[in-house]
Amino acid sequence: MSKITKIEAREILDSRGNPTLEVDTYLSAGKADIDKNKGRFSVPSGASTGKYEALEKRDGDLKRFRGKGVKELAERIEKEIAPDILGKDFNQETLDKFLIEKDGTENKSNLGANAILGISMSFAKAEASLTNLPLWKYIASLSENKISSLPTPMVNIINGGVHSDSGLDIQEFMIVPLRKESFAEKLRQCDEVFQNLKKILQENSFSIAVGDEGGFAPKLKSHREALGFIEQAIEKSGFKLREDFGIALDAAASEFYNPLVNGDKYILKSEKKEFTSLELLNYYKKLIEDFSIISIEDPFDQDDWEGNILFTEKFGKEIMIVGDDLFVTNIKRFEEGIEKKAANSILIKLNQVGTLSETLEVIKKAQEVGWQTVISHRSGETEDASIAHLAVGVSSKYIKTGSVSRGERIAKYNELLRIEESLKE
Ligand code: PEP
Ligand code: MG
Repeated sequence: MSKITKIEAREILDSRGNPTLEVDTYLSAGKADIDKNKGRFSVPSGASTGKYEALEKRDGDLKRFRGKGVKELAERIEKEIAPDILGKDFNQETLDKFLIEKDGTENKSNLGANAILGISMSFAKAEASLTNLPLWKYIASLSENKISSLPTPMVNIINGGVHSDSGLDIQEFMIVPLRKESFAEKLRQCDEVFQNLKKILQENSFSIAVGDEGGFAPKLKSHREALGFIEQAIEKSGFKLREDFGIALDAAASEFYNPLVNGDKYILKSEKKEFTSLELLNYYKKLIEDFSIISIEDPFDQDDWEGNILFTEKFGKEIMIVGDDLFVTNIKRFEEGIEKKAANSILIKLNQVGTLSETLEVIKKAQEVGWQTVISHRSGETEDASIAHLAVGVSSKYIKTGSVSRGERIAKYNELLRIEESLKE
């Protein structure tokens, strides 16, 4: 239990130049060094946001940041939420419970999931600091976890969907190192593939500009072409497909399925194709047969349970099928998905649900039922590296936090390098 003495909130910018919240929480330091009583967290923000995510609140004042400002929200944290918290003793569980109850809505639309997460995570960081623990150890103690290994990075090297103007409908093309190595070694291998992909794209006269998550965004004519270049880059780096490296995709299919406009059709604009759910399944089948794909995230729309279930039935033994928009780190949707066998892995995003405690509850559930977890960044990020600690603290097998470019993505990878070094010590 710690007494919260001060909460400060402010509007800062994220990696897309959109405003986002940063929250500082101060605890009563007692005899401890006064500088150690503070935790700071900045809240990330998605672009391909799932429709069942907890609500990200924005000011809506069109005179500022096209309505995306969070200045009023920051003021609300200080004036309306903080007074009910200051001077009281909390631990992570009681604080998160208090925030959930104060909000009082199913999707945190009253206070805003971003405001709630800002407080929840800055408190976590302050508690860790005050008790002389790195954040990952604090999280490990909350989740009663013994650290076994560092996560494997799923490194995004081509950006499509709403994260770039490459025109590709599949949102993320990631490479996954498969050998049992240190994190540092896995990162080196991914970096070499990234650098070789850059060369290959240049040699073929494609742009090497990067998208929101730091992967390249070349205007390619098809997903197969993208996969072909990635496999070339893996081999050019001296690695073997399927033995040293696999490929993970995030289709983010909810972004190319809009029943109100297109009826029951998935529209792949890049390839000028229209698919029913079953045809899309067969499209993926061919990709899985022809390329070294080991994981597909959100292969079908967030409401297309049948598509997700059928896909899992057919390919769930072969590859990872990861629910992101499908589960939105929400225990109810996740339990429904487990029951329906609609995937075999889950993407974890703190701001989809809004508190650290609820996030840990979902991860615990995944571990109980033997599903893999992928701790994830958002496409709009800041230099905050807390998700690196979350991934280590819960012993997640995977983390996806973008490419090996753009400072806000590198911040997480560099933090994992430091954590690995500290574990050796
Ligand atoms: C994702 O869909 O997995 C993702 C990271 O993108 P966003 O943050 O835009 O939802
Ligand atoms: Mg996703």
